[in-house]
Amino acid sequence: MSNAVIQLGPDRIRALMAHYAGSKIERNAPGVVFAAKSGSVSITAYKSGKVLFQGGGAEAEASRWGGTSGSPDKPASRPKGETLPEGLARMSVLGSDETGTGDFFGPVTVAACFVPAEKIALAEELGVKDSKMLTDAHMLKIGPDIKEAFLNSVLVLPTEKYNTVQAKGWSQGKIKALLHNQALKHVLRKMDGTKPDHILIDQFAERGIYYRHIASEPEIIRENVLFSTKAENLHVSVACASILARVAFLEEMDRLSGLAGVTLPKGAGKPVDEAAAKIILRKGDDFLASITKRHFANTRKAAALAAKRSGKS
Ligand code: MG
Repeated sequence: MSNAVIQLGPDRIRALMAHYAGSKIERNAPGVVFAAKSGSVSITAYKSGKVLFQGGGAEAEASRWGGTSGSPDKPASRPKGETLPEGLARMSVLGSDETGTGDFFGPVTVAACFVPAEKIALAEELGVKDSKMLTDAHMLKIGPDIKEAFLNSVLVLPTEKYNTVQAKGWSQGKIKALLHNQALKHVLRKMDGTKPDHILIDQFAERGIYYRHIASEPEIIRENVLFSTKAENLHVSVACASILARVAFLEEMDRLSGLAGVTLPKGAGKPVDEAAAKIILRKGDDFLASITKRHFANTRKAAALAAKRSGKS
């Protein structure tokens, strides 16, 4: 369960109490001046000006109120990036995120999703949350609902193509930047002239580096673009994008597992080396290369494992 603590002045506390008046609950603990339960988040305001947000979405809810981290011994984990506009969580935002970059097997996927202010509640009703808090099964279930409810673009960079551009010297940063720019462009096109209040990119590179990566693209999305880490906690559009990217990744992993005859593990750890060695012995190096990000150290480790196994048998 996530939680966030902020410190607010008396005016902001009053505004907070007015805002959550409809969801007020009784809490007779020492020092408590107000308590409410809004969706999955419990809000407790103390005489000291400290406000505690607890539960799924606590950080996003707290970020709506700004303020400063209230507890020196346990500072709220703050997203890195630029100064974000107040009230961002309730605006119309086009968000983007990617997945698969740390996985030896499978593609890199990037998604962008537009959630207008008036449909934020719908996204929340669909069960959209920070994808790190959701199970794969849950994401597979709500993925189609998100796709139907919101304008989106999902890009899958297959491993063959990834390996080709990686061999040309493209960094993962460049690959990601190009895909984010493209996904955002696709959604903006579908929006047909409507402009989001902001575009929010889950930050993997700072603004200058991001734009250097895509400098030679024919169309570069720049207007109202914000970058922040943990952006899935800052606007539900990024959480939607993150889920769509993850679902596309999972579907592709399923398909590749079928081809390989082995359930492909995620990540880049020991189980990945084991599975990769098995695949080399059954299907050969070239097949393995075709379903993996070849430049990862796992390629070498799996080859060593496979050599050891075939030597023994
Ligand atoms: Mg991300």
